[in-house]
Amino acid sequence: MLGSQRELLNKIQFQAGMSLHEFLRQYGTEEQCEAALSVSRWPQGWNCSRCDGKRYCCTHNGRRLWECLDCGYQSSSIVGTVFENTKLPLTIWFLAIYLMAQSKNAVSALELKRQLGVSYKTARLVKHKLLQTMLLREEQRRLDGRVEIDDAYLGGEKRGKRGRGAASKAPSAICGSDTNK
Ligand SMILES: [Zn+2]
Repeated sequence: MLGSQRELLNKIQFQAGMSLHEFLRQYGTEEQCEAALSVSRWPQGWNCSRCDGKRYCCTHNGRRLWECLDCGYQSSSIVGTVFENTKLPLTIWFLAIYLMAQSKNAVSALELKRQLGVSYKTARLVKHKLLQTMLLREEQRRLDGRVEIDDAYLGGEKRGKRGRGAASKAPSAICGSDTNK
C-alpha cells in the first residue's frame, strides 16, 4: 500500500509556479480530481489489482467504482492511497497538495485550516499524512540515486532487484567473478 501511495503522489504534482486560477481550472471539481487520479493509477487503462483482469463495468456510489468482470472485485481510484478512509473531498486533498508544493516554507496547519476551510484537527491530519507520503517519496528518490550509482559502478547494466541488493554487499561477486565465492 505504501508503494502505491508513494507512486501516486509522485505523479500528482503540480507544475511549479502554477497559478491558483489554473489549478482550480484543472482540479476544481471532484470529477476532475478523480479523473486525474484514475489516469495516474492506470495510465494503460484500468486493470484489476486482484486478478489483473482488464474487463470491467462502472457503477457509482458517490464515487466511481470499477467492478472487475472476471473476479467481481470492486475498486475506486482512491483505494490504497493516502486519500482512502477519509471523508474529505478529493478537491480538499488536491488543494492541500498544491499549497504544500507551491510553498517554499512549510505550510502551517493553521494556514491550511484557513485556506482549506476545514477544522484545525483535519488540517493537521491532512498535513501529517501528506508530509509522511512526501517523505517516503524523498527516501525513494535518494534510494534510486544510490541504485543508479551502483549500476554505474557495475558498468551501467540494468540489473534485477536481487543483483542490486547483492551488489551493495559484494560487488565483486556480482561482476561475475566466480572465483571470489
Ligand atoms: Zn479481477
